[in-house]
Amino acid sequence: MTSTKAPSGEVVLEAVGLTKHFPVRRRLRQIFRKEHEAVHAVDDVNLTLRRGQVVALVGESGSGKSTVARLLAQLYPRTDGDIRLHGVSTRVKGGRPFREYAARVQMIFQDPFASLNPVHTIRYHLTRALKIHGNAENLDAALHDLLTRVSLTPPERYLDKFPHELSGGQRQRVAIARALGARPEALLADEPVSMLDVSIRLGVLNLLRDLKERLNLAILYITHDIASARYFADQTLVMYAGRMVEGGDSETVTQTPAHPYTKLLIDSAPDPDRLIADIDPLEEDRGNGEPPSLIRPPSGCRFHPRCPSAMPRCSTDLPVPLQIGDTPGHWAACWLYDSPEVAS
Ligand code: SF4
Repeated sequence: MTSTKAPSGEVVLEAVGLTKHFPVRRRLRQIFRKEHEAVHAVDDVNLTLRRGQVVALVGESGSGKSTVARLLAQLYPRTDGDIRLHGVSTRVKGGRPFREYAARVQMIFQDPFASLNPVHTIRYHLTRALKIHGNAENLDAALHDLLTRVSLTPPERYLDKFPHELSGGQRQRVAIARALGARPEALLADEPVSMLDVSIRLGVLNLLRDLKERLNLAILYITHDIASARYFADQTLVMYAGRMVEGGDSETVTQTPAHPYTKLLIDSAPDPDRLIADIDPLEEDRGNGEPPSLIRPPSGCRFHPRCPSAMPRCSTDLPVPLQIGDTPGHWAACWLYDSPEVAS
């Protein structure tokens, strides 16, 4: 069994220069008249997951954040870069090595209904997870423990139900319990609350936070909702068009964002305190436009076609991570902050 007594802050999983390019299908290649076109879904992503901490990966649809989670779960082979589990480079492709990896790194998907088989009971789903990962010695006690951990109590009320007999929030709790059946060290939660009613999202986030603390889990929280990242995550990383553009502790990134794209995300979040009459029409115009094609991403900074602060060099030079102010660990990949102090 994986120890929950490992020191909090211990590095579990790292992405180093992680890159994923999907080959474009032949028909699209003909349209674009190029033989070697690829979708640049993820380029040069670096992140570290530590015991007892949540890292939020924030961005709009198509930014590549879910691809990062699937790469870390080894559901996709990577094009370049490295994935390190406790410092050891790891590449698994199925079979026993994949099961051993999945026992330590589990994924929670966005849609709990799709991730549970409708013809099987909750007992079946949890038993299967426990057996696959060799944790079914005392099956009844283990089933009760899993459901109790996710606050589905009394467990007897849920064990023999089918997924359609549960609410969305209860189904997501079952999906989390199933992931815990592997006794993992890291959870990769891909938009775990975005398909749930607003009224029950907070309960599921609180559950994940509680599990993080009690089981000393490392959690990657994928979301398009930067406000929930502030509430839930220790660190926040922002992705745009397949690249990381800003990172730091969640309070700093959400309260004093540096990158123009992060500012746009925060300004786009619903804010009941902001009256329409207060909105400057020029401000309202910021960030107009669509996310770029990832088959032919913009040169230089990928945000430059939408950026209200773009400078000539932005369309030619790829920004590097630059330290922001004196806040340790706060960086942005933006030429507005160019100085000799380049973040390592
Ligand atoms: Fe805008 Fe240039 Fe910064 Fe990119 S590098 S976000 S285009 S100012």
